[in-house]
Amino acid sequence: MSERCSLVLCCGSLLTLSLLTQMLVVHKYGGTSMGSIERIKSVAERVAKWHRAGHKVVVVPSAMSGETNRLLGLAKEVSANADPRELDQIASTGEQVSVGLLAIALQSLGVKSRSYTGWQAGIKTDSAFTKARISEINGDMLLKALDGGEVPIVTGFQGIDPDGNITTLGRGGSDTQAVAVAAAIKADECLIYTDVDAIYTTDPRVEPDAKPLKVISFEEMFELASLGSKVLQIRSVEFAGKYKVPTRVLSSFTDADIPIEVEAKSGTLITFEEDEKMEQAVVSGIAFNRDEAKITIRGVPDQPGVAYKIIGPVGDANVDIDMIVQNIGEKGTTDFSFTVHRNEFRKAMDVLNNQVKGAIGAKEVVGDDKVCKVSIVGIGMRSHVGIAAKMFKALADENINIQMITTSEIKTSVLVDDKYMELAVRALHRAFELDKVGA
Ligand code: ADP
Ligand code: ASP
Ligand code: MG
Repeated sequence: MSERCSLVLCCGSLLTLSLLTQMLVVHKYGGTSMGSIERIKSVAERVAKWHRAGHKVVVVPSAMSGETNRLLGLAKEVSANADPRELDQIASTGEQVSVGLLAIALQSLGVKSRSYTGWQAGIKTDSAFTKARISEINGDMLLKALDGGEVPIVTGFQGIDPDGNITTLGRGGSDTQAVAVAAAIKADECLIYTDVDAIYTTDPRVEPDAKPLKVISFEEMFELASLGSKVLQIRSVEFAGKYKVPTRVLSSFTDADIPIEVEAKSGTLITFEEDEKMEQAVVSGIAFNRDEAKITIRGVPDQPGVAYKIIGPVGDANVDIDMIVQNIGEKGTTDFSFTVHRNEFRKAMDVLNNQVKGAIGAKEVVGDDKVCKVSIVGIGMRSHVGIAAKMFKALADENINIQMITTSEIKTSVLVDDKYMELAVRALHRAFELDKVGA
């Protein structure tokens, strides 16, 4: 409940039900939800419905679908090596158009509304252009606007750095903006409206038998997002966890006039309580990531310090490393493999060929950028054995070769050939009976 609401509750005897249940919420609408003028008008109707029912709503919309790609494409046409500061200057305009259009749509419905850019709303970030992190949000301005009966609309995906430069929060960053704003104003809930009606056991575009989840634990959602499930940007889940922001994923494609009581309970809620989940499926979801590339450096002298000599220069070139495997040495040499983001494959290969191979006396560097990572996630895995074996058997039954494996308490990931990705996801979905969830 919002502060205002608890005050009302203390002193109110003659209050109406709608006042008692007044909520302070953030609505986030993704690119497809904002994809056309018709869609924007439908978003405005949904927001107006909440506003008219007495709820306080801050809206965080994304750029219209395809717009961020179009803008970044323009920059790429000018230079393949564009200055990241300028990329942010350009990409941030997509959201600026969206907020303005949505404010006009709300105003035409008779709702008092104004749009704000990241800097106008006081969203401060670091200076890591194209992947900035929010450092501070002062929610006072938004709370004041809400108290004035306004629906403030804040651009997704952007903020301002200490030098006054516009920054963006990385692809999918409007999720993070919304949850961070919800944390700053202590919203009762952050509602992430999107083009699916829930978080599913896996991406329903890949597995048509995927099932919607009523709840998912914060830990599981965090793993799914970090392992490639693009339904929420990982940093938004981080914020939800850090500030305990109740966050719900739901559809913006239901009728805009569906009753609020029904809408507010639809979709998937990220929960911070695990007990009820522990009773449920061992594996809750499957994630996949196509953005992977594998590099192997062969014939590496098997000596102390060699891993550091390989990984160090790659890290110094700002390339993040994910999975790592070092084979058992034979005749004094070994092979060392790791994965990087596909976008950074060339850069990592260059570093290894130019700075590492000769320096450590390795035989050769080989790479494959047609691999992907498929992962099973579930907090139930903590208390069950044999889950990894079941996973490997399901993949073996489909003749899918596993190239690398990593595990942690609540997840197991495998690296497989790109062309088997969909097959692997569907085989695992069946093996762990996720198609029967909720049945
Ligand atoms: P938005 O534009 O609203 O931010 P996104 O495209 O970023 O939407 O995220 C929604 C998409 O995420 C869905 O269309 C779906 O294909 C994909 N997705 C991936 N994994 C899942 C999952 N486990 N549950 C639901 N959707 C998923
Ligand atoms: N418009 C940005 C993107 O396409 C941010 C977002 O939609 O979340 O990545
Ligand atoms: Mg998104």
